[in-house]
Amino acid sequence: MITVLAGGTGSVKLVRGLASVSKEITAVCNVGDNIWLYGLYVCPDIDTITYGLAGLLDQKRGWGIRGDTFSFIRQMEAMGQPAWFALGDRDLATHVYRTEMLRRKKSLTEITGAITEMLGVGQKILPATDDEVETVISTPKGAMHLQEFWVKNGARPAVTGVTFRGADSARPTRQVVDAIRNSEKIIMAPANPVSSIGPMLAIPGVRRELERAREKVIAVSPIIGGGPVSGPAAKYMNALGLEVSPAGVARYYKDVAGSLVIARTDSKMAGRIELLGMKVETTDIMMKGRRGEARLAMYLAGMARN
Ligand code: GDP
Repeated sequence: MITVLAGGTGSVKLVRGLASVSKEITAVCNVGDNIWLYGLYVCPDIDTITYGLAGLLDQKRGWGIRGDTFSFIRQMEAMGQPAWFALGDRDLATHVYRTEMLRRKKSLTEITGAITEMLGVGQKILPATDDEVETVISTPKGAMHLQEFWVKNGARPAVTGVTFRGADSARPTRQVVDAIRNSEKIIMAPANPVSSIGPMLAIPGVRRELERAREKVIAVSPIIGGGPVSGPAAKYMNALGLEVSPAGVARYYKDVAGSLVIARTDSKMAGRIELLGMKVETTDIMMKGRRGEARLAMYLAGMARN
């Protein structure tokens, strides 16, 4: 069994690749970007992974359902409501179902399991915790929810800090603890280290389990050369005083991951990363198309059998 720690758009590529080469995949998903909107509980990373594995994901956007329409959000806008977070009409069904089930006192883990089953996903998708954790971005304009910073404000304000509200008292679920303990290998997908993996590492119980499992934890760098493949990782890493490089990623992960997989073109960084006590592997870590996803997944699954 392989467990993958996953965020959203970058992670789904590797999760899909792994699902194509191995039957027993468990994705443990970030919940720090979850948000209440219009009375609905929206879980962007969980949904990206679910839609990716269900073959529903809009590949171009990297989120939402392919071919979805946006009548609901346009009507909200027409009614003068805030409409900065584009919820698709089909996508809405997921959030309505989830919120109704939360109201009936089901846990997010149970609800996620039910949704994956309804969508025909064979892999296990687990929220890192059933408790609410919220990634908060501090800026000169004030502190705001990650989605407000990223979607509403287009990641424009300077970032002075990143914190995880609720993480201290959040607990990993039994299923997450079991997945970490019973997996042959744990792979940290190439994800935004601060905003996708960070909220999971901020949950003391998750961190403790990963520290114990460190030797079987392999992280894939989301940074190639001096920058991320996509997204705002550089801004968050700078705010935490981390160098925007595979070595900076290594510094953030060193206590919870025994190995870091970096791009061949970054092999000159290996020495610095090894000094942090991590093993280094180099390969092509840019996933282009399904082939690229499967290739990296196969490489990692091979490492997993070592
Ligand atoms: P988010 O929730 O949408 O921010 O998505 P993730 O956190 O899962 O992924 C974003 C990170 O994945 C970014 O920092 C990207 O640099 C990285 N990323 C995206 N595609 C690739 C890829 O093909 N290879 C690698 N190594 N990193 C990638």
